[in-house]
Amino acid sequence: MDTVLVVNAGSSSLKFEVFAVSGSLTRLVKGKMEGIGTAPRLAIKGAGGERLADASYPNETVADLPAAMRLVGEWLRERHDGRLIAVGHRVVHGGPNHMRPARIDETLLHELERYTPLAPLHQPSNLAPIRALLERQPQLTQVACFDTAFHRGRDPMADHYAIPAHYFEEGVRRYGFHGLSYEYVAGRLAEIAPDVGGGRVIVAHLGSGASMCALRSGKSVESTLGFTALDGLPMGTRCGQIDPGVLLYLLQQRGMSAAELQDLLYRESGLKGLSGASNDVRDLLASEEPGAALALDHFVHRIGLNAGMLAAALGGLDAFVFTAGVGENSPVMRERICRKLEWLGAKLDSRRNAAGELLISGDDSRLAIYAVPTDEELMIARHTYALLAA
Ligand code: ADP
Repeated sequence: MDTVLVVNAGSSSLKFEVFAVSGSLTRLVKGKMEGIGTAPRLAIKGAGGERLADASYPNETVADLPAAMRLVGEWLRERHDGRLIAVGHRVVHGGPNHMRPARIDETLLHELERYTPLAPLHQPSNLAPIRALLERQPQLTQVACFDTAFHRGRDPMADHYAIPAHYFEEGVRRYGFHGLSYEYVAGRLAEIAPDVGGGRVIVAHLGSGASMCALRSGKSVESTLGFTALDGLPMGTRCGQIDPGVLLYLLQQRGMSAAELQDLLYRESGLKGLSGASNDVRDLLASEEPGAALALDHFVHRIGLNAGMLAAALGGLDAFVFTAGVGENSPVMRERICRKLEWLGAKLDSRRNAAGELLISGDDSRLAIYAVPTDEELMIARHTYALLAA
């Protein structure tokens, strides 16, 4: 049995999945190494959710991502049948030119390392396992799947900020992210409702990171994320759109350092900052505190505003799609957001919404509304296999 390994590496965790490839792709294993460098713990489940591993390790054994990758590789070799034919990696930044996944070699890896200043919190973690594998198993095919690639086909005009043009040339552009999720959802929509998928659609990826994308005929036209994963919607701990003047104020009047500012914007803001309590929508929904209500009201408000902006980019709207943690699992949040979309013709069907059906709008709704589970790992596995087959 040939298999493809999908790797999604973050700053202190390494998520991975194994797919069998024989014509179609079948998920076999899903695992996560958490607490890398602090309290490493490896949990692996099989296709049916059965526990295959659950073990803690001393810090010295799994001090960094390369060590985690090595350990996961050893587990797979010892405990898992199958011949690994390729590894697909989630890479947050593909820079201005990569419109599709790419086979990794030393040249590409060098290029991707150059984008680290554009995504300092994610890119080094994404690239560390690639570098480790390239050194240990240079013959193994590795594929980089970029979160930015899906947005690259759009009108480059949309990628500009209104600052002097030379900054654009050096890479200060609106890249857009969550592309693997949008691509997967666009593909699902084309299967579920081809007419709708071919029209004007907003997909709202509402997880701990959150953004929205305007799609025409399944292709990205606009999105709420820009140069970094900070723009657009408020997120679990990230601020979303903010007047740059606020940053100048914090730097100049409050004497904040760049590092403090980065920490504030990435880790202490969003739902967490507004509520003063939690970054998790479940906690906020369960809370009686006014801060929790404010955070959720603001989140819904901003989604409504951004929906208007993206509908304008599309010149109208045929469908709105919810996906990721909040979008897939919270009928209450979907309902609250849909109220903001009534002027666009949204009428939710409360029974379908509560039941978590794919189509959740009423038959008399001018706007079709869907809740579609995303699957970024499957998207990466597909790309990796496709590139190999080509
Ligand atoms: P990520 O992959 O970006 O870490 P997810 O897509 O898993 O995030 O989304 C995580 C978020 O989804 C959680 O922080 C939580 O707020 C939210 N979430 C998950 N399940 C529910 C639910 N049943 N109701 C409300 N929010 C939920």
